[in-house]
Amino acid sequence: MNAQTLIKNATPFLNYVVDWLNGLPDITIAEAIGGRPENVAVLSVDIINGFCTEGPLAGPRVAELVSPITTLFTVAHQAGVRHFIVTQDAHAPDAVEFENYPPHCVRGTSESETVAAFTNLPFWNLFTVMPKQSINSAIGTDLDPWLDAHPQVDTFIVVGDCTDLSTYHLAMHLKLRGNAANKKTRVLLPVNSVDTYDLPVDAAREIGAVPHHGDLLHHIFLYSMMLNGIEVVAQIK
Ligand SMILES: [Zn+2]
Repeated sequence: MNAQTLIKNATPFLNYVVDWLNGLPDITIAEAIGGRPENVAVLSVDIINGFCTEGPLAGPRVAELVSPITTLFTVAHQAGVRHFIVTQDAHAPDAVEFENYPPHCVRGTSESETVAAFTNLPFWNLFTVMPKQSINSAIGTDLDPWLDAHPQVDTFIVVGDCTDLSTYHLAMHLKLRGNAANKKTRVLLPVNSVDTYDLPVDAAREIGAVPHHGDLLHHIFLYSMMLNGIEVVAQIK
């Protein structure tokens, strides 16, 4: 199959995905937490300097997430939410992952630090920082032990980058963990606080990297999360 045939055959589906995404509702924080703020956690993944402002993987699409996520944290806190988790790359200098991505976010460097907009929040003391070594926030991290220690938390608001990489793995882990335990778990994903990077084919060839179509992958992975029961919404206000 060539690309033209694939695009032609997939057009009805792509129209469906675009219409679905354009029609997503805003919801209020009150709707998100359902009067049970003690049962809610907000999780943000990889909003650190190395994906926002410095280093080979930093980019403007992710940097633009800092403001809406900071607002979401504040709105959630005002609504009584007290569980905040940030999972973030803190790689060893010889990380195996660097075979797939250029060296980034090495632990102890400023690239691996949470963005200042988060650490300056007056309730930053409520945040749990969880270092990770892969795009999966649950493998070899403190996340599952935290979830085991907080069984009452059954509603998760997930934000961060990238839609098709770390955010996808985090949201899917939370949802599938609930499914596996036959425990109703609500995972909410506000699209205004989630994005992925763009690396056009020509630019990728020049630097010997793998290209990455930000908009297409953003759409498809949002769809995939919705398919699996994650509540994708335009924003949580
Ligand atoms: Zn990494």
